[in-house]
Amino acid sequence: MTGSPGSTMRALLLTGPRQWQVAELPVPVTEPGHCLVRVAYVGLCGTDLAFYDGSSGYLRDGLKRYPFVVGHEWSGTVVEVGTGVQGFAVGDPVAGHNVVTCDACDRCRSGRRLHCRNRTEIGVLGTCPGVASEYICMPAKTLLPLPASLDLRSAAVLEPATASAHAVARLGVREGDAVAVLGTGTLGLAAVQIARSTGARVTAVGVEAAGLALARELGAEAVLRPEEAEDDAYGAVIEATGAEPAIALAPRLVAPGGRLAFLGVPHGPVPAFPSAQLVMKNLEVHGVLSGIEQWDALLRLVVHGHVDLGALIDGVLPLASAGDALTALAGGRRSRPKVLLEIGGRSGSADLTEGAA
Ligand SMILES: [Zn+2]
Ligand SMILES: [Zn+2]
Repeated sequence: MTGSPGSTMRALLLTGPRQWQVAELPVPVTEPGHCLVRVAYVGLCGTDLAFYDGSSGYLRDGLKRYPFVVGHEWSGTVVEVGTGVQGFAVGDPVAGHNVVTCDACDRCRSGRRLHCRNRTEIGVLGTCPGVASEYICMPAKTLLPLPASLDLRSAAVLEPATASAHAVARLGVREGDAVAVLGTGTLGLAAVQIARSTGARVTAVGVEAAGLALARELGAEAVLRPEEAEDDAYGAVIEATGAEPAIALAPRLVAPGGRLAFLGVPHGPVPAFPSAQLVMKNLEVHGVLSGIEQWDALLRLVVHGHVDLGALIDGVLPLASAGDALTALAGGRRSRPKVLLEIGGRSGSADLTEGAA
């Protein structure tokens, strides 16, 4: 059913700015403590786009060099279990986070795995190849077993949504809170749903009509364009775009004494940021990176129908159309934010399938 890997596999290799190819690479060897996974779907996000077009800060700072296999959002099926791995079997549907920790440094040992001194991020930081390939060898500790009822397309969107879950958790959002979410991309629309699941009253603020309509469908009580949003009106604000106008707007919308989370990563300096307001309004400010501790909680919300990740998927394209997928991502004209690549192994279907499952 899951098929056994041959000796080579197809992988999406970025070789330079706006240069990519589907390369034949060796299937990774299953290391102790790891599982070999046949990848089903890979989600593409702004981080991947910046690697594709060459604008990534990781490239600029020399933390990543072409050529490399891109991708860090994925779902798949275990095809081989390495020695010493407990709790996984061949055929298990899985997804996982991309942060690999050493578990030995002072930060890991004091429970701050996310800040591991020797951290690598699969497909992003360090030399670990990304996930846009037919097979990946993943540390078992990064994997999450999935219920068979969860479709693997939605599962490929868990990774970015865990960051949104982290933002909601950090702000301690709860029933009755007035929450504003800035941005209607994947992070924003996941944050809208997760915040809504607590019983909070959620307002989505964005510039895309389709994104705002989707936010309304997914539980936002109000949807506003930035110029319509009221200052000082929200106890908690989540900035989920990384775009300068939204970063500058976020502190204005928070009520005095309120909480603010920055989830989007700006690609450069933000001169318009009203730093003084953080002090004058006595705000509690959080920078939110990833969500490696949020997987179980998010999966419960998804399984119980409180968060619909399939609704965020605009289209699913075959690996051979990766260039089209990246162009679609860069173009920004989509009714839903997430673009997936269907990989699925050699026997997998490679039909162009538009729309969410
Ligand atoms: Zn991502
Ligand atoms: Zn460590």
